[in-house]
Amino acid sequence: MSGEKTSILILYTGGTIGMMQDPQTGSLVPFDFDNLYDHLPVLRNLDYQLDFYAFDNLIDSSNMTPDFWVTLAKKIESCYEKYDGFVVLHGSDTMAYTASALSFMLENLNKPVVFTGSQLPMGMVRSDGRENIIAAIEIAAAKDEDTAKVPEVTIFFENQLLRGNRTTKHNAEHFNAFVSGNYPSLADVGVRIKYNKEYITKPNFKKLKLHTKLDNNVAILKLFPGITKDLVHHTLNTPNLRGVIIETYGSGNAPTASWFIDELKNAIDRGLIIYNVTQCKSGSVEMGRYETSLDLNRIGVISGHDITTESAIAKLMYLLGEDYPIEKIKELLQIPIRGEITL
Ligand code: ASP
Repeated sequence: MSGEKTSILILYTGGTIGMMQDPQTGSLVPFDFDNLYDHLPVLRNLDYQLDFYAFDNLIDSSNMTPDFWVTLAKKIESCYEKYDGFVVLHGSDTMAYTASALSFMLENLNKPVVFTGSQLPMGMVRSDGRENIIAAIEIAAAKDEDTAKVPEVTIFFENQLLRGNRTTKHNAEHFNAFVSGNYPSLADVGVRIKYNKEYITKPNFKKLKLHTKLDNNVAILKLFPGITKDLVHHTLNTPNLRGVIIETYGSGNAPTASWFIDELKNAIDRGLIIYNVTQCKSGSVEMGRYETSLDLNRIGVISGHDITTESAIAKLMYLLGEDYPIEKIKELLQIPIRGEITL
C-alpha cells in the first residue's frame, strides 16, 4: 500500500479501557468511541488512517466466550485486506485467552493484531489506557519497507510487547499486568520502541486462513495436595469431555497414588486427551525427570512443554474443533504451531 497512509482498524470489545466515570452517578460507563479524538487529541498527530469499530455487545472480558472469539476473528478476516494492522481493545482479565485463541484461529497471519487494555479507565486522570493505545497503534503500524514489523497476535501493556499465546495476566493492580515467563518480549517501549527482531515471527506471505470451529468440551484440572478421588473422577467423567489439561507441579509432576493414575489411565483408554501443563509461570514440563511423572508418561499423558494454560486451552479447543484424528491432535499438541511452545 505504498503511497497511501498506513491504515489501522481499532476494534473495541469492552473492558476497563473504554470506560469513563459518569459525572452524575460516579459509576463506570462505556464511553463513545466516536469521540475518541476528544479523549485522546494526540491521536491527531499520528499520520495514519485510524478507523474504529465497537462491537454491539461490549463486555467485561470475564464474560468472554468462544463465540465472541469467532465474531472477532471473522471481523478481522473481513477487514484483513483493507488495513495494515489491527488493535484490539479488550479487558485484561481474559486477554491472554483471547489472544491465544486468535493466534490459532488466524493461520498465516502476516499483519499485526495487537491487543491492549488498561488497569484504569481511559476517562480517569492517571489512566494507563492512553499510553497503551498509542503505543499499540504505533506497533500495529510499524513496517520494514512494506512488511509489518510484528506480524503476530500480541499483547501490549505498559512497556512490553509480548507474544499473545505466551502471556498470562499476573497482576490485578500494576500497570505491568502481564508476564511471558517462557518467551522474551517482542518489543520494549521506552524513549524508543526497540523491536527484538530475532524473537518475532517472520511473515510467510501466504493467504490468511480462518479457523472458526472450536470445541469447548475441555477442562482444566488443577492439582493440589489433598485433591480427592471424587473430584478427579467427576471431572474426567464430565459428559462429552474430549480433552483435559492437568495443571501439574513443577516440571510436570503429579501424585503417584494408584487411584490417581488409574483415573487418568481409564480416561485415556476411553479416548480423552490428557495434556500436562505446569502450574509454574516459567519453566517446562519434563515428564520422566522425576519419579512422580514417570507414570504419566507411561499411561500416555501428553506433554505441554512450556505452554501457558491459556494457550493450552485455546489450542485444545482449536485442534478438537478441526476434527483431526486423535493421534494427529496429540502430535500437534506437543509441537509449536504458532510459536506457543519452545522445544
Ligand atoms: N474486568 C475487566 C475486564 O477484563 C478488567 C479490565 O478491563 O482490565 O474486562
